Amino acid sequence: MTFRQLPPDLVATLRETVSLGVITGAGVSAESGIQTYRGQGGLYDDEAEGDRTVEALSAPTLAADPDRTWGVVAHLARQTIQAKPNPAHQALVAMEATLERFILLTQNVDGLHRLAGTRNMIDIHGDVLETRCSSCAFHGDLSVEDLQALTGTPRCPQCACGLRPHVVLFGEMLPEAKIRRLHEEFYERPPEVVLIAGTSAIFPYIAEPVLLAAQAGHPTIEVNPEPTPLSDRVRWSLRGKAGEIFPQIAAALASRA
Ligand SMILES: [Zn+2]
Repeated sequence: MTFRQLPPDLVATLRETVSLGVITGAGVSAESGIQTYRGQGGLYDDEAEGDRTVEALSAPTLAADPDRTWGVVAHLARQTIQAKPNPAHQALVAMEATLERFILLTQNVDGLHRLAGTRNMIDIHGDVLETRCSSCAFHGDLSVEDLQALTGTPRCPQCACGLRPHVVLFGEMLPEAKIRRLHEEFYERPPEVVLIAGTSAIFPYIAEPVLLAAQAGHPTIEVNPEPTPLSDRVRWSLRGKAGEIFPQIAAALASRA
């Protein structure tokens, strides 16, 4: 359906909701002006250029030519550090404040949910503004000054080995601790309602919590400008921007009787 206002049966459901699981993808970041590096609205119209970017952001390239990986990471990080949370990020903070239980799973690596103030979240792919040492336990943040000075691979301030971006690169495993939290939050004690937005959910670990909720008869909501493979699996598929629809969802949750 084309979005105008929330369907009355959805509003009625939200007014009785006490726990919510939310999943966000690149579309939510795009509303803050962050381009994705491939796919619709991606950084590169040219598909071969997109493929080269994905290759640069892969585990084998990091091992063989870390400067090449860092070249692309620095570009993404510079774009990220200038971005600001949008009404979708802010509405999620309001939802968390209203509900007894709230969990956010995000694929986005821009840190905008954290910057907006979301507390209980799993940034499954990491954060492009964080770094870690490939040898010692050092973990740090990239500042504007770091990014301006960055050419090639930054060095660890503790042991001088090469730092790596604190993101999951193509070909790398997801971090075990985050997978465990995802299971605890979405599988072991599933939220009453699951909301997914701004993603075509191509990764199974992103789609599965929604499908699981739908199969269990829990209310499921999708917010996306375009239809996705999940659109006919969820109870409400709303066509539109998260920045326009999330504030209305937050308002309905806050009107809880
Ligand atoms: Zn180190």
